[in-house]
Amino acid sequence: MSRYQRQQLVETLHKKGITDERVLKAIGTIEREKFIPPTMVHNAYKDIALPIGYEQTISQPYTVAFMTEKLNVKEGDKILEVGTGSGYQAAILEFLGAKVYSIEINLELYHRTVKLFDKLGIRVHAKYGDGTIGWAEYAPFDGIIVTAGSPSIPQKLKEQLAVCGRLVIPVGGRDYQDLYVLTKLSENEFKTEIYPRFAFVPLLGKEGWEKK
Ligand code: SAM
Repeated sequence: MSRYQRQQLVETLHKKGITDERVLKAIGTIEREKFIPPTMVHNAYKDIALPIGYEQTISQPYTVAFMTEKLNVKEGDKILEVGTGSGYQAAILEFLGAKVYSIEINLELYHRTVKLFDKLGIRVHAKYGDGTIGWAEYAPFDGIIVTAGSPSIPQKLKEQLAVCGRLVIPVGGRDYQDLYVLTKLSENEFKTEIYPRFAFVPLLGKEGWEKK
């Protein structure tokens, strides 16, 4: 049943413009229902964001697919994710063959999701902390994906991106943002593409928003 529903979701995402076959295969394989609270399972394959507790959400599948497509992950790439949340995005990246480093600022969510990774056998280097300062120890990263909305582009993330790497990050106000895709051309030169209009929970921390 859930396999059929996943295929329906893949078709929906394809119709909405997702064309990367590897990304579609990942969405068609990873069981989203494992990453959401039991009370939400009936909505697992609707193309909507869902609450995961602690005022946080698992992103809409279209958004996950779009960001992953823009990140252009290749087998063996070292990817930093800021905002582990439910772990679904990290699972998609791991499925694509990335070495995933993921940071979560909410301690309870961090513990819960690390347990889930263990249970499902998903290999993610997870860390509790403020992702706006990146993870210097493992830099540079071939790609960085930020899954919460930021007021600006954190400097440390630009620094920790490898040359030719991509940084995908929602930037804008607290409620709505545009998706920025930065490609690092050289140590201090970036190409920027902007895709309007997305709605993420706020990125907190040193270079993010203040907690309300
Ligand atoms: N990638 C997640 C998923 O697949 O479920 C999306 C989770 S949600 C949209 C964004 C997450 O970013 C939340 O869990 C929130 O606690 C986290 N977050 C916010 N600011 C952060 C920061 N500075 N560092 C790390 N995580 C942060």
